[in-house]
Amino acid sequence: MPTSVSRPFLLAYSSEVLDLLDLSEADARSSEFLQAFAGNRLLEGMASYATRYGGHQFGQWAGQLGDGRAIGLGEAINRKGERWELQLKGAGMTPYSRRADGRAVLRSSLREFLCSEAMHHLGIPTTRALSLIATGDGVVRDMLYDGNPAVEPGAIVCRVSPSFTRFGHFEILAARGEHELLQRLVNFTLSRDFTFIVGTDAERFAEWFRLICERTALLVVEWLRVGFVHGVMNTDNMSILGLTIDYGPYGWVDNFDPGWTPNTTDEQFHRYCFGQQSVVARWNLERLAEALMPVAPARKMLDAGLAHFDDTLQSALSTMLAAKFGLLKWQNDDATLVETVFELMQQAEVDMTEFFRQLAEVKQHAPALETLRSAFYRDSLYESHAALFESWLGRYAARLGQQSDDDASRRVRMNKVNPRFVLRNYLAQEAIDAAMQNDLSMVERLMQAARHPYDDDHPANLTAKRPDWALDKVGCSKLSCSS
Ligand code: AMP
Ligand code: MG
Repeated sequence: MPTSVSRPFLLAYSSEVLDLLDLSEADARSSEFLQAFAGNRLLEGMASYATRYGGHQFGQWAGQLGDGRAIGLGEAINRKGERWELQLKGAGMTPYSRRADGRAVLRSSLREFLCSEAMHHLGIPTTRALSLIATGDGVVRDMLYDGNPAVEPGAIVCRVSPSFTRFGHFEILAARGEHELLQRLVNFTLSRDFTFIVGTDAERFAEWFRLICERTALLVVEWLRVGFVHGVMNTDNMSILGLTIDYGPYGWVDNFDPGWTPNTTDEQFHRYCFGQQSVVARWNLERLAEALMPVAPARKMLDAGLAHFDDTLQSALSTMLAAKFGLLKWQNDDATLVETVFELMQQAEVDMTEFFRQLAEVKQHAPALETLRSAFYRDSLYESHAALFESWLGRYAARLGQQSDDDASRRVRMNKVNPRFVLRNYLAQEAIDAAMQNDLSMVERLMQAARHPYDDDHPANLTAKRPDWALDKVGCSKLSCSS
């Protein structure tokens, strides 16, 4: 059961998720809603539960973890017949809380709430967020793990997803030799979450694992497209449905850098940095394959799934990159074109989001470096790299010349895959700072912008590159797992 909180207060809700649950805005403002999603009472038909899972954390088997602060409330079937599972994050201790308190702080809950919805509107598979509720209770956290614990306001997000099953749910059963239960979990998952897969048991298993591999590959490619770094791709944070799940020390790439991670816990090895996410996804799928081995009809089915991951990743990556650069078709030598500019962007600290929006403005017959200037953080780097970028732009324009296309239609295409608005780290932090002062207007503005990320018409302050003050500020470019 959720543990009651003292003074629940509704900070935000998602109208879109209300819709999914056939709830109205009036419902969201009712005291029943507040009490239910603060964990103070179960509504009729709800049944609470926490689940057991394990996981590989930072490359090591970590044993049993489980829903330490996530409490399921049940499933809702909406008018369209869709099934949505509801889960409170931060609603108090469960049998899996280990030494922790089962709670979540406002800053991390607000980040999860905003980012789940922003991801959805970007068109990227994700768990959703219905509500963000302040508990009125304090939660003690040592934010930087440096021996300075402080009391912070607590908050609870109600997450919504067709399923919250993770790779780790299968791993723990394999690790403990509970093969019969493992088989039941596979059957349950197939019959609940993959009903559309038909055939013999063996065929269904093979197709299921293949699909997990495919969706995971596609998900990572989507993250790369928009500059998202999950930050903690442990196998317990990997969804069996291929959704983005568990928003913790995630971040958005400002200046392009494949080696960047916002997670301070990963400072030393950068295991989960931006550019490693596909490699890690593959590694995680291998751990899942190992866990499924005892119930797999044949090992070759698992190998085939992993091979399918590699193929999907390759083809989706080139399709995604072609689209980002406005190329109608990916040609083999485009890899050099793309790698060259990525290298330059990294050296010259070019903002990823701004760069791709500006690239769409480049004229094929009169490419001008000035067009890209706003994507640079520093004048000195702009000047020192101008010649290299100009030469690259020449090659790019020549490449555009090989396709039958015009600037205007290329611009439209590019702006559909290169977002204008992303939830930059410093923006989320501004929303947190304001919310701590009881000002929720920034949360509202960010939610509004997140609804149409590919459009041009955003307030300039929501699409501005990272300001200098955010460079080293905690919460902006550095985040810990303490949440
Ligand atoms: P994470 O790294 O946030 O994905 O969490 C790893 C594990 O720690 C999961 O099993 C979480 O449920 C658990 N956990 C994280 N924070 C808390 C908390 N405050 N109370 C209880 N369990 C937690
Ligand atoms: Mg987690």
